[in-house]
Amino acid sequence: MNFPFDNSYARLPEEFFSPAKPAGVAAPRLLLFNEALADQLGIERDGATDDELAQVFSGQRLVEGSQPLAQAYAGHQFGQFVPQLGDGRAILLGEVVNRQGRRFDLQLKGAGRTLFSRGGDGLAPIGPVLREFLVSEAMYALGVPTTRALAAVATGATVERERPLPGAILTRVAASHLRIGTVQLFAARGNRQALNTLVEYTLQRHYPDHPIDPTPAMTLLQAVCEQQARLVARWMALGFIHGVMNTDNMTLSGETIDYGPCAFMDQYDPQTRFSSIDHGGRYAYGNQPIIAQWNLARLAEALLPTETKPNASLEQAKAIIEQFMPRYEQLWLEAFNAKLGLAEVIEGDRQRLEHLHTLMQAGTADFTQTFRGLARWLQTEELAALPAGLQQQPELPAWLADWQQRLTRQGRTSTAVAQAMNRVNPYVIPRNHKVEAVLTAAEQGNLTPFKQMLAAVRRPYEEGPEQAEFSTPAPLTERVYQTFCGT
Ligand code: AMP
Ligand code: MG
Repeated sequence: MNFPFDNSYARLPEEFFSPAKPAGVAAPRLLLFNEALADQLGIERDGATDDELAQVFSGQRLVEGSQPLAQAYAGHQFGQFVPQLGDGRAILLGEVVNRQGRRFDLQLKGAGRTLFSRGGDGLAPIGPVLREFLVSEAMYALGVPTTRALAAVATGATVERERPLPGAILTRVAASHLRIGTVQLFAARGNRQALNTLVEYTLQRHYPDHPIDPTPAMTLLQAVCEQQARLVARWMALGFIHGVMNTDNMTLSGETIDYGPCAFMDQYDPQTRFSSIDHGGRYAYGNQPIIAQWNLARLAEALLPTETKPNASLEQAKAIIEQFMPRYEQLWLEAFNAKLGLAEVIEGDRQRLEHLHTLMQAGTADFTQTFRGLARWLQTEELAALPAGLQQQPELPAWLADWQQRLTRQGRTSTAVAQAMNRVNPYVIPRNHKVEAVLTAAEQGNLTPFKQMLAAVRRPYEEGPEQAEFSTPAPLTERVYQTFCGT
């Protein structure tokens, strides 16, 4: 096989990483290979068989140009600073530069221990590997900036968790794996030189059009705040709950990373959380914007030592962090307005949206079905198009009338509006109960339901027969209340 490797991270100073070697795997077997993504990356299969792909994407055969390493980073986990984390179960194979000149990290997740593994085994069970594959590909199809999944390989070995599970390795593709925690590592060590190098490297890699002088760190902070405000607004508009928004899981590129205990919300409730380790609900749906801002404030603190005029920069950093929430709210408003078929934001739109959210919550309405239902109601005027609990809200008719009036002022036909809505409101999301079901089947050796679901979530706006099975909320008996990191 031929990979267009060019490993810029490996050329950084030695404190940025530790060389690593994927562990031996007795019987690697290819589960999934993302041909379309391989093509986008400029990876040439050159007639390689599935078995050869399994060798490559389990780290057994290193393609020429690969320089495997584990990245060093730190981070706040559930509010507590951990000075040394790093890739404990991930190994960067290298970076590829595609035909358009875009650079991507290729990383194996679950390929064995590294210098940063601490007490962990560096391995991954098949469930979390396939979960990340499915959800990251769904997010990509939904237009959300995200890491992606190139391959999944079964190792043939057993991973010991609460019970023995089949092991697997995911090949993750990312714009980079630089994270807030990378900056925090060098800030905590007081290593100003490394911080400066990191700032310059990150700006070059992700924000080449932004001016580097006179305050590169503040330029970076501003750019990351903007990307994260956009990202979290997208999550909120889809009912996506990340679940572990630790600073080591928040990228400097603005891509979603680390699909551990993540989940999509069914019934609308801002308190919704699924992660079994998120006892206080710190990372609940409705908390995500404020947590993003909290994380960005930690980024600001970590960046400040690099500035030559710390006092002036402190004021600038404060202003940038304070601007995050208004900027996010503007993007939130635009995203939700688009979900209602409204192209522009005007006075009164926020109240209408907040009112709708109140009605959805009171009626325990399914988040995704509400917006598809509203488009259908526009064309049929039948309340039956809406979730049952929402239909029963006494204030709903007044809300609908007000919305319709607002749409009339916009001057497009109902059909055009409904079509626009169906282009931003998915019909299919990876619903928890379905995710659990297809992962359980895969654990038992049957990958067919997983593949069907993957095909459905890759075309989330289509109402075809492939999608229908995955479009409905869980019946009471199948509801999922908790998700697990699978570490
Ligand atoms: P996460 O919560 O997945 O972002 O992981 C947090 C930290 O724990 C990172 O430094 C991981 O590399 C490390 N980690 C998670 N699972 C394992 C494992 N099975 N073996 C070694 N390190 C792990
Ligand atoms: Mg992580």
